[in-house]
Amino acid sequence: MEPARRDVLAVTPWLAPIVWTGTFDPTIIDGAVKHQNITIATTVFAVAKYIRFLQDFLETAEKHYMVGLNVHFYIFTDQPNAVPTNVTMAAGRRVSVIKVPKFSRWQEISMRRMEFIQKAIEVDISHQANYIFCVDVDMQFHSRVGAEILGRLVAVLNPWLHKENRDSFNYERRAASTACIPLGKGDFYYAGGFFGGAVGEVHSLVKACRANLEADRAVGMEARCHEESHVNRYLLTNKPTKVLSPEYIWDEELGSGGPEIQVIRYATVRKNMKEVRENF
Ligand code: UDP
Repeated sequence: MEPARRDVLAVTPWLAPIVWTGTFDPTIIDGAVKHQNITIATTVFAVAKYIRFLQDFLETAEKHYMVGLNVHFYIFTDQPNAVPTNVTMAAGRRVSVIKVPKFSRWQEISMRRMEFIQKAIEVDISHQANYIFCVDVDMQFHSRVGAEILGRLVAVLNPWLHKENRDSFNYERRAASTACIPLGKGDFYYAGGFFGGAVGEVHSLVKACRANLEADRAVGMEARCHEESHVNRYLLTNKPTKVLSPEYIWDEELGSGGPEIQVIRYATVRKNMKEVRENF
């Protein structure tokens, strides 16, 4: 059989698939999971002004995200009353709202997600779901994001750096940080805005990242790309079993991408950082 794609890396050096359009058959994958009756928890934070992104996130998720599968969205927000209730959810799909505080710095809001996801997994998600994906809210689904993303530990290639070499990655380089990855080390640069996998694996990831974020804070460190730096450090030791191409976390500031980007599936919404971020 011919390899489906010759223009991109479709398998990691540790033999995990890298999911690009053309490397999988959606019909066969859907047929394979249909009988499993799995539930996919999906966490999304909409704190402070980011509540405005929730409506489009949910509406586009209903069109493109895990269609036909059981999905339990966990929405973490400081404004439970502002969570849209007018999005029609298909059978097997539902929303739970979890109230969280509004931290004063946007970095804090982003980093503290690890702690809240850890708690939610322990209290609830571990009893309810088989898989969990943790995603950013300032995003919209444009095309299928389906069962092809399921795996034990799943990470996504950051669209800004997927063609760079490891020494150009945005890793935290300071040895004093628990997120440090020195020059010459590292596999890929993964996005902080989309990771997931089996619930137990993701619990280990968020628990480790939370502990490392707190250890850094205790010595006055904040890693270069906040929790994304810690996710990258964790995934250097704990290799993902599946890697998703940047189709799965595109940024429209990059335009349509090169010829290797054949489909944009999930993409950032352009935002005025100054206006939406707390204490930018
Ligand atoms: N977030 C939020 N409120 C904020 C800042 C961040 O809810 O004031 C959440 C939201 O889910 C967002 C994620 O944290 O998608 C990551 O933050 P942001 O998108 O600003 O980071 P970026 O991906 O742009 O670096």
